[in-house]
Amino acid sequence: MKYYKISAKLLSPIMIQENRQSNTPKSLSHIPGSTLRGALAMKHLRLGGSPKDDSFKDLFSFGSINYPNLYPADEQESNVSAILPFTALSCKNNSGFKRTNYEDQVGHGVNDDLADKLAKRLLGKYVSAHFCKKCRQDLRVFPGFWNRSINNPAKVDTVLLFARHTGIDRHTGTVASNIFFTNQVIADLQKVSIKTNQGKNKEFYTQHFNGCTYLSEEQLSLLQNLSSDSLFIGRNKSRGLGEVKLSIQETEETSFDLPKWDVSFKQKYQAITKSNLPEGIYFSINLESHAILLDKFLRPMYDFNPDFPEISPVLKIIKMQKIKGWNNAWKLAKSDDIAISMGSVFLFKYVGSDVSGLTVYLKKLNKSGIGLRIDEGFGQISVCNSFHTEMEDL
Ligand SMILES: [Zn+2]
Repeated sequence: MKYYKISAKLLSPIMIQENRQSNTPKSLSHIPGSTLRGALAMKHLRLGGSPKDDSFKDLFSFGSINYPNLYPADEQESNVSAILPFTALSCKNNSGFKRTNYEDQVGHGVNDDLADKLAKRLLGKYVSAHFCKKCRQDLRVFPGFWNRSINNPAKVDTVLLFARHTGIDRHTGTVASNIFFTNQVIADLQKVSIKTNQGKNKEFYTQHFNGCTYLSEEQLSLLQNLSSDSLFIGRNKSRGLGEVKLSIQETEETSFDLPKWDVSFKQKYQAITKSNLPEGIYFSINLESHAILLDKFLRPMYDFNPDFPEISPVLKIIKMQKIKGWNNAWKLAKSDDIAISMGSVFLFKYVGSDVSGLTVYLKKLNKSGIGLRIDEGFGQISVCNSFHTEMEDL
């Protein structure tokens, strides 16, 4: 099994509805793993495959491939995109990274306040200033996706458009009066201003999405066959929406350095509070996609604890998320799931002495993901995210 980046280049706008009701046609701004899997399965069947053949099982049976969520990326796709953690803060007045190369995006800077939040928990008050150094306005959570580059950060978002339609009268076949509806779609092109040596350089770029997963050689060649020409994803395909071109490339696995992160985090805490953290080795686990966790009575669980001795929870910054689903094969709604939202952050403390054992355990968890429906993109995590220790941009 090797690690691959799956990229989708938009050839037309796409529509991925946030929920099932057609009267609230809000689009998601990413491509869920379940949507990607459904589109590939449909294509496999359309090319003459059957749910009984070996290649179908190799690609789509339970536990075969964890289809990742694809997050918006710029055209260069220099990095795999990620969700910004809920601890990312920026100026209320002029939000955005200060040192980004995208001129349109330059803001007053972005910081991470996980260490601040911990200080508030332990000391009862915020110790660092919670306002923008440039304009003195309050700081706000800075949500969305970014390019995961600490040195050259950029926010990567989608442009959402409204597609308008008229209703057709069933008797006359002409435009019906008083029937007019709109759908939200993700635009296939974005206008962007990139800082270059020659000065301002305004241009359009094609919207890309990307995400990563592990594939065997067999699975890779089957998926490459399915993506040799365009693939149709999302809704309203009969209106020409949802055409994408997939490409798959081997990429480096994400890694982390537990002892190094622990030291950096403690230094950051020390710098803002002038006091030391209680003994222990600290590490963070972030949700890179929504995670559906159940307790032993199969009830939704809003907490996550690694199954390793001598670990205790220190802090969590989480949000809930309702997950709606649609089973294309059955043409029926799947039951709703309650998940913990992507962007959520858990901080833990380890007081044992087996750091290398813990590292091995966390590496395994990082690779496998947590909770249910992992094969549809849920439960992806990152361990010891450097955003918490290194993002100093404000
Ligand atoms: Zn400001």
